[in-house]
Amino acid sequence: MTHTGGCRCGAVRFEATVDPHHTSYCHCADCRHASGAPVSAFVGFMADSVAFAGEEPRTYVNGPVTRSFCGTCGAPIAYVDERIGETTYFMLGAMDAPANYKPTLHAYVREQLPYLHMPDGLPRHVASSVPRPDGT
Ligand SMILES: [Zn+2]
Ligand SMILES: [Zn+2]
Repeated sequence: MTHTGGCRCGAVRFEATVDPHHTSYCHCADCRHASGAPVSAFVGFMADSVAFAGEEPRTYVNGPVTRSFCGTCGAPIAYVDERIGETTYFMLGAMDAPANYKPTLHAYVREQLPYLHMPDGLPRHVASSVPRPDGT
């Protein structure tokens, strides 16, 4: 199955040729600033299964994390963390069929906004759900 997505204006398109191995919510402040939304959600694919088409996304590098976005419409596309660089995490909302990617966990709930309640019974990780070599 091919998984496809893109930005709001359609200038940036992408596809992945394998199924995602990770689908999660992230409550961290960095994702909040990048997305503008109180909580973000991501779909992770092995990076070597991902291909982009159309306009090259713009990128913003913050330490080990590179976030990409459309240079035309500004829509956030994905992030890559060089500490776990074999995965490309696409914004769930950038997928063409977002309803197909049900998150399986919450990450960084220590940074969750106090008025946001999501009683879905999913596992809740205080910080990252994917261990980084430096322990963050
Ligand atoms: Zn766009
Ligand atoms: Zn985050």
